[in-house]
Amino acid sequence: METIRVVCAHDCPDMCSLLAHVDNGRVVKVEGDPDQPFTAGFACAKVNRDAELVHSPDRITTPLRRMGPKGQGKFAPVSWNAALDEITARWKSVITESGPLALLGYCYSSHQGQMNRGLPNGLFHAMGVSRLWAGTVCDSCMEAAWDATVGPIGGADPDSVAESDLVICWGTDLHATNVHFWAKLDAVRKRGVKLVVIDPRRTRSAQMADWHIPIRIGTDAALALGIMHILVRDDLCDRDYIAQHALGFDRVEREVLPRFTPDHVAAITGIDTADVERLAGMYGAAKRSLIRLGWGMTRNTYGGQALRTVALLPGVTGAYGRYGGGAVNMTAASFELNYNALRKPSGPATTRTINHNRLGEALLELEDPPIRALFIASNNPAVTCPDSAKTRRGLARADLFTVVHDPFLTMTARYADIVLPAATYLETEDFFRAYGTYYMQYSPRAVQPQGEAWSNLRLAQELAARMGVTDPVFRMSEPELLRELFCGAKGAVAAFDPDVVRGAGPISIATREGQKFRTPSGKLEFFSEALAAQGLPPMPDWQPDPAEATQGAQWPLRLLTGPGYFLSHTAFSGVAFLRQREGTPYCVLHPQDAAARKLRDGDRVRLVNDRANIGLVLHVRDEIQPGVVLVPGQRPDNETLEGSVNMLCSDAYTDMGEGATYQSTWLDVRPW
Ligand code: SF4
Repeated sequence: METIRVVCAHDCPDMCSLLAHVDNGRVVKVEGDPDQPFTAGFACAKVNRDAELVHSPDRITTPLRRMGPKGQGKFAPVSWNAALDEITARWKSVITESGPLALLGYCYSSHQGQMNRGLPNGLFHAMGVSRLWAGTVCDSCMEAAWDATVGPIGGADPDSVAESDLVICWGTDLHATNVHFWAKLDAVRKRGVKLVVIDPRRTRSAQMADWHIPIRIGTDAALALGIMHILVRDDLCDRDYIAQHALGFDRVEREVLPRFTPDHVAAITGIDTADVERLAGMYGAAKRSLIRLGWGMTRNTYGGQALRTVALLPGVTGAYGRYGGGAVNMTAASFELNYNALRKPSGPATTRTINHNRLGEALLELEDPPIRALFIASNNPAVTCPDSAKTRRGLARADLFTVVHDPFLTMTARYADIVLPAATYLETEDFFRAYGTYYMQYSPRAVQPQGEAWSNLRLAQELAARMGVTDPVFRMSEPELLRELFCGAKGAVAAFDPDVVRGAGPISIATREGQKFRTPSGKLEFFSEALAAQGLPPMPDWQPDPAEATQGAQWPLRLLTGPGYFLSHTAFSGVAFLRQREGTPYCVLHPQDAAARKLRDGDRVRLVNDRANIGLVLHVRDEIQPGVVLVPGQRPDNETLEGSVNMLCSDAYTDMGEGATYQSTWLDVRPW
């Protein structure tokens, strides 16, 4: 038995260091690395089963060529050579006939390694094809809002929670998505520090908190402004900090806050006035209050304004200036590596850009030229894209040549002309930097790729060679690519020798300094000229979701989606054990709403709106408020009664970052 220290490559903020136990070329067990302080010796319930991910009987073992209609999933094995010959011949003829913009590389995040994620994107950048604006289904709204407020720099170190005196988890279910931060909280709470969870759903995290505040969906900005109103009224602001580090608070204080009285905020948010007062009092009294900013609040029409407003709160009390205070948010911007070496090795500065959310629209409506060839890796858009029925109509186009690289025959892969078997992270070597902590780490492979699987990196390099792309990165080994990432790096990571990093295990770049700001003013921007220049409100504010007036008039219930505890995203659904633990795909209605529809727990129901109707099993629980339908996870059609939840959602954009608006969806629930 051999034990190999690897890094978890799933799309998760924790980026755990793991120990893979390997016997005779098989991963027999995966567990947390006790020597990585954040991982602290345990892997989450999902990754504990990753030996089954690698050796799942459902994995694709050879390249496949489609034999039946698109979407049906009928394929026959072909050799790698035949598959690659066909792919490159088709791409070359598409480029000759229609130009490079007729090809789209659609690669995203299910492998978080910088090489296996970066190099496929680098290939398509170098080829000058249509470019994906990736991440709009996930973090682009958060990122735009944070950057306009704090700037492109990481938030607080999650390890700093050890010195916090109040913790607020706002719009995030740590038990599903950030379990190692929860473990840190356990230790902090033993010394009496209170945990407040603000979430429309009584999640597992909310149940275990000191105080759960069930907020109405889409009203987070109003609550944050109400807290600011009370902090000003009760003289709980840190005026010295504001004077030195904030821009425009005086205008917000004068022009915005007077409208957000506690009673008005209570009416908007559904939270009692006394609770708004109590929360503001707790926040104002704390010196090192830490907000774990969730991105759930961003997934509606004014999601950017929500995250921006909550992110301003620690500036009012000066918590941003103290270790243990501030806001935990994405840390990735603080790792200033030379990503472009891999992601943009050559190619034109600009080409046509396709929004990740709107793959369906791009495939169905783009002209001059239309998309004629599509390459998808590390993503499952037939399930995860909003308006995913439209995505599938696009994928079903008979004249579209689609290649999917994936370990499993996903819903998306069923629409492919060619499916290529992908290696999982335990079969690849790569370098990782976290997006939820300040650790970075190099990872060897634990086992050789199973069957005929190839890593994303190997595939990108082979395709580059066959397409005549000659940039040196397409001939480099992993250690050489690591040197490229560190060559020209800036900030904290610039001090590291990549050859040392490779053997060093987990490395932290965290500091004890207060929050830095990288906005144009160098300050925390309560007033943002950059937002004003985009035609957006320059100051934080709240307004009702305009979708409510249109959809809400016809459909009585609002959709709330969130990650499953065992299937936080579809990349885990290849493990039968996790599917079983997550259970039959379901939705949740409040007992009042269920009774009004004569529906009972366990009934089969249809979720219906103008866009789609899907079938799930009903759970009747009061973990959500009346007027809401909760659907955990993004379960594919072959697990649900019918369809998949994102078919119900529109592909409309958020106010900032052109992100997805999954929670701006209204619908009804009816008997099956
Ligand atoms: S918590 Fe996240 S990073 Fe850690 S093992 Fe689980 S999925 Fe991987």
